[in-house]
Amino acid sequence: MQYQKITPIFLEKIKAIVGADAVFTDEETLINYNHDETEDLKYNPEVVVKPKNAQEISGLLKLCNEAMVPLTPRGGGTGLSGGALPVFGGVLLSMEKFKAILSIDTENLQATVEPGVITEEFINAVAAHGLLYPVDPSSKGSCFIGGNVAHGSGGPRVVKYGTIREYILNLEVVLPTGEVIWTGANTLKYASGYNLTQLMIGSEGTLGVVTKIVTKLVPKSQHSVLMLGSFAENESACAAVSAIFRAGVTPSALEFMERRGVEWVIRFDDIKFDLKDGVNAFLMIEFDGDDLDVIFKDCERVNAVLEAQGCTEVLFADTAQQKEELWRMRRTMAESVKSNSVYKEEDTVVPRAALPKLINGIKEIGGRYGFESVCYGHAGDGNLHVNIIKAGMSDEDWKNKLKDGIKEIFELTSALGGTISGEHGIGLVQKEFMPIKYSEVHLNLMRSIKQAFDPQGILNPGKIF
Ligand SMILES: Cc1cc2nc3c(=O)[nH]c(=O)nc-3n(C[C@H](O)[C@H](O)[C@H](O)COP(=O)(O)OP(=O)(O)OC[C@H]3O[C@@H](n4cnc5c(N)ncnc54)[C@H](O)[C@@H]3O)c2cc1C
Repeated sequence: MQYQKITPIFLEKIKAIVGADAVFTDEETLINYNHDETEDLKYNPEVVVKPKNAQEISGLLKLCNEAMVPLTPRGGGTGLSGGALPVFGGVLLSMEKFKAILSIDTENLQATVEPGVITEEFINAVAAHGLLYPVDPSSKGSCFIGGNVAHGSGGPRVVKYGTIREYILNLEVVLPTGEVIWTGANTLKYASGYNLTQLMIGSEGTLGVVTKIVTKLVPKSQHSVLMLGSFAENESACAAVSAIFRAGVTPSALEFMERRGVEWVIRFDDIKFDLKDGVNAFLMIEFDGDDLDVIFKDCERVNAVLEAQGCTEVLFADTAQQKEELWRMRRTMAESVKSNSVYKEEDTVVPRAALPKLINGIKEIGGRYGFESVCYGHAGDGNLHVNIIKAGMSDEDWKNKLKDGIKEIFELTSALGGTISGEHGIGLVQKEFMPIKYSEVHLNLMRSIKQAFDPQGILNPGKIF
């Protein structure tokens, strides 16, 4: 695609649509919006635009479409695959003014919300009505619900409640050509042609800009119990994951953490935790519900499974503060790894019984290429975040050879029946690995969909393919 640079005349046209006070070209703003949380990648946009409604976005997209100017939507900028990076410059469309929770419908258990609402603020707002919106990525304090839709996000509670795909009923979307549509209906069932709502979820801002979101809500459980199992080996902790489900219980969260991640996060976030010698892996297991007797029975069954799988100690978080501290440990793990070392994060996912083979394979591949790794993640979904640490690898090997190691990790993931991202998306940094999992036929179908929505290829170009 031959994209056009933004001219002073084009800037005036943008200002005529959104108002001069919503258009930024100063260096400081361009730098603020030139990165997300993906490694150390930086791409300056030519202009940052902060519209306040769907009509303004419609006008902006029509203008960009006619002039062949690329436009990249951005939510909270917490993405880990470079989805919000304006790799061809052009317009960076910030959704930060879309901050309204428009309705919380306690009769139908639904809410309508704008995409710039911070996920945690939405969770808290529905909790005040005794309701639960269970999609809570570890970045919930800064990511936007629109970014979550665009990435098909998950989080610790997916294991019981499902990903955001289970909660989005309907979306208002501005298409790259400027038309505004609703993708579905505010209903729990939908058998009315192709499901454009599901197509839009996980489309990473490449098919349309989401401007309103209708979500399903569920009643909030009254109780939760959090346990922490310690293991001498990664492999036995990973093997315990599928054994827990085979025992007939479904936790509301089941997270895996390697020792090194715990060591680093204790230092990084000043967390009080007694890390014992000989413990190399942990499972954090949470149950929620309204009946404490039922929860405790589930805990007992899990206890028996953990013992049989070689767990050396099980701790229960007795107080709300202990629970909070353990969750803080898990949620800040990514930041602590990032602060400790040059790293790259991969987001592998396999059927959960394959987790032991996956983690052993990752370590074996690392051994051959000379990198170390810290693994943690949503083990209950078979989803392991692999933080690759530069360690003793030379700068040259890191630059040139690491790619082959990552390719091997994804080949292994695929051979185990998994795929190359569970929740972080493909964006910019994983697109070269797509052919490991998907045939040319498959990729061409995806390209045709992109072409149908965005014939000029102006919306978030350079992503997924
Ligand atoms: C510490 C940390 C922990 C994390 N933990 C998790 C986790 O547990 N689970 C998980 O799933 N992810 C996790 N992530 C990844 C990230 O937070 C999620 O992918 C999140 O959904 C991104 O939301 P955002 O608002 O920051 O989106 P951005 O990074 O701003 O954008 C992400 C993508 O969405 C597109 N986009 C944004 N808004 C719109 C819109 N309104 N319409 C169309 N497209 C749009 C962008 O173009 C881009 O492609 C974590 C990240 C960090 C840094």
